[in-house]
Amino acid sequence: MEATTTLVPEDKSKIDLQEKRMAMAYFLVMTSFHLACLLAFYTGFSWTAFTIFILSYSMKALGITTGFHRYFSHRSFKTNRVFQFILGLLGTTAVQGGVLWWSSHHRSHHRHSDKEKDIHSPVTHSFFHSHLGWMWSKECFQKAEIPCKDFAKFKEIKFLNKFYGPLIILQALGFYSLGEVLNLFYPQLGTSGFQILIWGFFMATVWTWHVTFSINSICHRFGTKRYDSNDESRNNWLFGILAFGEGWHNNHHKYGWSARNGMKWWQIDVTYYILVTLSFLGVVSDLKVPTKEQLQAD
Ligand SMILES: [Zn+2]
Ligand SMILES: [Zn+2]
Repeated sequence: MEATTTLVPEDKSKIDLQEKRMAMAYFLVMTSFHLACLLAFYTGFSWTAFTIFILSYSMKALGITTGFHRYFSHRSFKTNRVFQFILGLLGTTAVQGGVLWWSSHHRSHHRHSDKEKDIHSPVTHSFFHSHLGWMWSKECFQKAEIPCKDFAKFKEIKFLNKFYGPLIILQALGFYSLGEVLNLFYPQLGTSGFQILIWGFFMATVWTWHVTFSINSICHRFGTKRYDSNDESRNNWLFGILAFGEGWHNNHHKYGWSARNGMKWWQIDVTYYILVTLSFLGVVSDLKVPTKEQLQAD
């Protein structure tokens, strides 16, 4: 049983100040990441850097779609503790907040989708706020309405959530080192530590941000509405492709518990294809998917 505490005004203003500082820190960090991308004009292009950019984007985006979203937020399939940690780690590489923080916010989004309490709705807030601005607001750092208690009990998941910041720095060092090693052993590739840091870390992170954030902004505004989901969620084919299946967002709000978002054969859902493959390999199990009868009835 949780202890209930009454905050005195000094405590309240202290918490308020902390939340404002976090919002300012997020603003500065995210702006710096965007500015760092401009350094690509200085480091130049190489096919090696471009390939690492694509691989890094795939790792980060799939970490979010498979891990943070369909597993930690919605529990749409089961897995073992080792792969659960790997999913948490992959999602952490996307620099979108700690795993427990991300999932708590997302659960809250589904509960209040496009209503007043949905802090990133483009219906109740501006489009810019739904895309980026909400992470620069103090509401973003207030105590979660639906804490992710089911995963907070795992100490390795708590570790990922707590040491989210240092893990970002380690990741940046990892990309820089990769470029240096490639330059040392394969100088013909024409790359460097600095180039891989910019393309593999900064540019891939910023690109993944905007693809993910577009699900909150664009996919609650533009696209088709197949189901009455009690909100403004839309199916958007472009983000169905770019966000590995997450763009079928109206389907997702209708069947939030489903491991599959693309309900028709032509609704490309790479995350689901990967989950089916992992299920064949025995890495994940119990994929929840709506039946044909359910889909026909709705
Ligand atoms: Zn949504
Ligand atoms: Zn969701």
